[in-house]
Amino acid sequence: MTQKKILYGQVVTPLRVTAAYLTVENGKITGISTTKPILDATTEFFDYGAQYIFPGFIDGHVHCFSNPDEGFAATSVGAAVGGVTTFVDMPYDRPKPINTAARFNAKKAQIKGQTIVDIALWGTIPKQDGVKEIPGLIAAGAAAFKMSTFETDPERFPKISDVDIYDALTKLRKTGIVPAFHSENNEMIVDLIARYQQAGATYPRAHMETRPIIVETTAVQELCEIAKWTGSKLHIVHVSAPETVDLIDAYRQQGVAVTCETCYQYLVLDIHDLEKMGPRAKMNPPLREPETVAGLWQRLIAGKIDYVTSDHVPWAASDKAKGQANIFEAPSGLPGIELVAPVLYDAGVAQGRLSPVQFSQLMATHVAQRFNFSQKGSIELGKDADFAILDPQAQFTITDAGLHTKTNAITPLAGRTLQGKVTATWVRGQRVYADDQVLAPFTYGDFVPGQGLKAGASNEG
Ligand SMILES: [Zn+2]
Repeated sequence: MTQKKILYGQVVTPLRVTAAYLTVENGKITGISTTKPILDATTEFFDYGAQYIFPGFIDGHVHCFSNPDEGFAATSVGAAVGGVTTFVDMPYDRPKPINTAARFNAKKAQIKGQTIVDIALWGTIPKQDGVKEIPGLIAAGAAAFKMSTFETDPERFPKISDVDIYDALTKLRKTGIVPAFHSENNEMIVDLIARYQQAGATYPRAHMETRPIIVETTAVQELCEIAKWTGSKLHIVHVSAPETVDLIDAYRQQGVAVTCETCYQYLVLDIHDLEKMGPRAKMNPPLREPETVAGLWQRLIAGKIDYVTSDHVPWAASDKAKGQANIFEAPSGLPGIELVAPVLYDAGVAQGRLSPVQFSQLMATHVAQRFNFSQKGSIELGKDADFAILDPQAQFTITDAGLHTKTNAITPLAGRTLQGKVTATWVRGQRVYADDQVLAPFTYGDFVPGQGLKAGASNEG
């Protein structure tokens, strides 16, 4: 028997914001009421007053081991600081990607004891003859499958051939599990970078010029065609341009079950930040022109983008310095698990572009739906008591030193002041973080299995 807890605040339910009391027992939401429940001597009461109680945020796109010095523990603290109660870790780990059931199980075994929030895991497949790994990975609990049309690394982050993508989507269709893609046109990028390098054009903006929007749209169009002809679901990660969203939407209208995410950085940074800051603002896809950013906002507000993620990759200043003279030599990516929700709240809700309900859909509900995390993603009776408490009156300023990363990561958002701050984070009925303090042991966080766990075991393989 755990103690009963009551929270009061501006509760963001799937339909509206209501001043309400939430009852929490045994890690679950057992009451939602606009009148104050009777408090007995053992009930703990948390009065959040005018603060929002959002469903715990879910970051569907995190890389704990791209920089292997980082790991789960530090990332889980950053998650809690940013109100993220569940994150889904990408499979492109160093030194070896998570592309077999054995590697998946080894990674899963590391979770317990190293996290204060809940974690689900992506699987991926090897470049050669990889489709056969899918049933084992599903049985082991993979939440979804990540693949790439761009070759970041031949073993760790390979380009999967068109025919293997076709076979993988055919196989996944029967499982209901979502395949997701890093979608960039490999041939065009490789050729463009070779031309630029040859010409000595290695200035920061060259990173964007060698990855124009057409490399994203051509890759996405092909994937949408494969999803259409196989009947599979499809998810496109880190969409960077409104033209891509419109293309995806055209396939949705044909009945293709395709969704997409963008990342917070594509909503608040543009090409001028890459020009000014160089490697610090280098990521894939690259930052784009201000009118592209404005177009993404239009689609986000119109509900054409399903959710927002961080694509968290914490590189230190010393890593990024490798690209000082040649932008192509800098590692790509930026930290974000603790920033994604506060940045979207500031730019979206505080600036009046998104309602709190839209914000909670983009940061929690739609993510849980896409991964089939049936216990998470919204404040409803019977769901996990995962909450992000956000004070709309509080402000904070982003700094490199203030980031909760083990690797001393740097961010192109350093110096920005945000309206709205996460003051407490609850995971399954326990406060894991409050008032700038970590309150839970690293043994608290749990593995969240993919919904194919049972189906995968009985699947024909
Ligand atoms: Zn990523």
